[in-house]
Amino acid sequence: MNVYKRMSEDSSILMISHTEKNTELLGPYRRFVIWVYGCCFDCEGCLAENTKNGTYTEKNIYELAEEILCSGTEGITISGGEPFLQAESLFRLIEYIKTVKNIGVIIYSGFTLEELSEDESCKKLLSVTDILIDGRYIKELDDGRAYIGSSNQRLHYLSDRYRSIGEEYYSSYKRRAEIKINLNEIVLIGVPSKNVLDVWKKLKEKSGGNISDF
Ligand code: SF4
Repeated sequence: MNVYKRMSEDSSILMISHTEKNTELLGPYRRFVIWVYGCCFDCEGCLAENTKNGTYTEKNIYELAEEILCSGTEGITISGGEPFLQAESLFRLIEYIKTVKNIGVIIYSGFTLEELSEDESCKKLLSVTDILIDGRYIKELDDGRAYIGSSNQRLHYLSDRYRSIGEEYYSSYKRRAEIKINLNEIVLIGVPSKNVLDVWKKLKEKSGGNISDF
């Protein structure tokens, strides 16, 4: 890939902002969600600033695979940040998990499918992906869809795995988000409605920085 700057040369490592083991807010069924660290875009109104300017951990993909397998979830959702900057690591992670369990894979990317299709590493990751939601977030085109940020972003079924359930699931305009209080941080998960977003922004202003939006 010549136009995209990769995050790491070591494909056994993933740079991660956050994971959630068991949520229904970012895809059908219960999912393990990975928010990767780092993004090459600068969308106005980005709801994941923390994945660009916050802290991150470097995780061994085999350790992460065991966590995912032990979680018992139907599949994984990968968001960010920009997942395809770490395409090799994510491909290896999914490939390894699939030797044990046939999990479903949903990925949110700021790149379009056409852009990703120009790159060999990205094509490998696409080959193990069931749904791709693609394109930059454009604030002016935010039409309130439940699981997709703006109307320019497209949902691609790259396999039939979620096709029947996805038609209804992704047509919803009922946004759902969850504020989760952990030991050392408060985390926002999902695509929030405007009201939830306003509350969240106020919480962020009042917090000492221990608050994360994904
Ligand atoms: S692609 Fe996603 S994470 Fe990156 S700047 Fe745009 S909205 Fe934020």
